[in-house]
Amino acid sequence: MKQHLSDSAISTPSQQQKRVAILGAGIIGLNCAFWLQRAGYQVTLFDTEKPGLGASFGNAGLFADYGRLPFATFSMLRKIPNMLLDKQSPLSIDPKYTPSLLSYGYQYFKACFDRRYQSGKQGLLALHQLVKETDETVISATNSEHLITRQGFIGLFSTKESFDKAKPSFEERAGQGVQLRLLDSVQIRELEPNLKLDCAGAVYYPNTYHSVNPSHYCQSIFDYFCKQGGHFVQEKISGLSAQDKKVDLHSVVNSYEFDHLVVTTGAASKPLVEQLGLSIPQVCERGYHLMLKDTENLLTRPIAWMNQGVHMTPMQQGIRVAGSAEYTHIDSQPSEMRTRVMHNHAQTMIGAGIEIATSWVGSRPTTPDSLPVIANMKNHPNVTLAFGHGHLGLTLASVTGKAVEQLVSGTVTDLDLSAFSAERFN
Ligand SMILES: Cc1cc2nc3c(=O)[nH]c(=O)nc-3n(C[C@H](O)[C@H](O)[C@H](O)COP(=O)(O)OP(=O)(O)OC[C@H]3O[C@@H](n4cnc5c(N)ncnc54)[C@H](O)[C@@H]3O)c2cc1C
Repeated sequence: MKQHLSDSAISTPSQQQKRVAILGAGIIGLNCAFWLQRAGYQVTLFDTEKPGLGASFGNAGLFADYGRLPFATFSMLRKIPNMLLDKQSPLSIDPKYTPSLLSYGYQYFKACFDRRYQSGKQGLLALHQLVKETDETVISATNSEHLITRQGFIGLFSTKESFDKAKPSFEERAGQGVQLRLLDSVQIRELEPNLKLDCAGAVYYPNTYHSVNPSHYCQSIFDYFCKQGGHFVQEKISGLSAQDKKVDLHSVVNSYEFDHLVVTTGAASKPLVEQLGLSIPQVCERGYHLMLKDTENLLTRPIAWMNQGVHMTPMQQGIRVAGSAEYTHIDSQPSEMRTRVMHNHAQTMIGAGIEIATSWVGSRPTTPDSLPVIANMKNHPNVTLAFGHGHLGLTLASVTGKAVEQLVSGTVTDLDLSAFSAERFN
């Protein structure tokens, strides 16, 4: 069923007076700010850093229209032990982080059951049915079209066995309305002549688009927000409390009072919402990127070597190699081994001798069922949560912002957010 979003862009007098704080100016907070401001709220964004410097700075840039299947499945669970033993695989767990993973692991197991999987799939489909429209609105209002390229995405498989094993998931996606085409090695070469990887086959998603500069995209939404009269406060918020009609925020230097709070602090959200009496088994899943030197014209579109979980996206400053799922503390030292493995994979994909210009690490906010939390708090209806977007934060940001605006205003829509409730982990 096609979902519709009511256009609540016209503000009412009570909205104009309502003061909303958004905590966290990553891609999720920025999109929430966009939609809330558009609906007439007085919005103040808070961030420890300048906007867009968290996970949203360094992602692979994909607006992944194919990302409609939850990650938690029993077949994935069975692969984990071998992946952990294989140093070339994208997955690693820091032994010091294992205590933080206990509740996450238990909830991951529960999320693998079919009822939860199907509910997650339904929820993702509902968001995807709206996201093209919400993306277009944000991209066009913020004049960001020059930061977006529409060339699709190719997922590459280096063995026939892995390609064949993935085919049921292509069928599942096609059943959800995702446009896709299977490619043989000749067709792959026609689309990406500079590719050096030997491929048994690939899947091409023509409707995926990508940002050629995710950080500038964040900046572009932020500039628009400021031009429209939005406020930004660069402070780390360490204290939160909520009463019936107000919420209080505290930093080391200041205290603030608002009518409504939206929490969009990504991987840092767990300890913050614990102050409001909510425990969410969200963990940090760190990813890395490398920017490669002198690679401006090597690829036409993003590609990924699916066997190794390595993405490559052509961006303004050259190719960005992105990947890794490293479960560790948010502020652990970056692993040189991860960078080395990704560099080796990149050379296999596009040729030996390619050098690294810069490297980066950032934390995905990851929930056990790989779905975000997008909900009002049960015990504090004037607090809205929007975090836990894992691998799909850029993809789902605009529709999350729109849903948050409706949660804040209490607008009735036919968008079913039950798969994204905070209580699903109880
Ligand atoms: C390597 C990699 C590749 C990825 N590729 C893709 C992709 O291709 N497509 C896709 O859709 N997604 C991708 N993702 C995921 C995506 O980047 C994230 O899901 C998304 O950036 C999360 O956005 P966020 O706004 O929730 O978090 P963040 O961008 O991390 O923003 C949270 C903000 O909150 C601030 N903050 C935290 N605590 C406080 C506090 N106490 N007070 C004030 N401010 C605070 C932080 O400073 C930060 O700016 C990728 C991620 C990684 C790491």
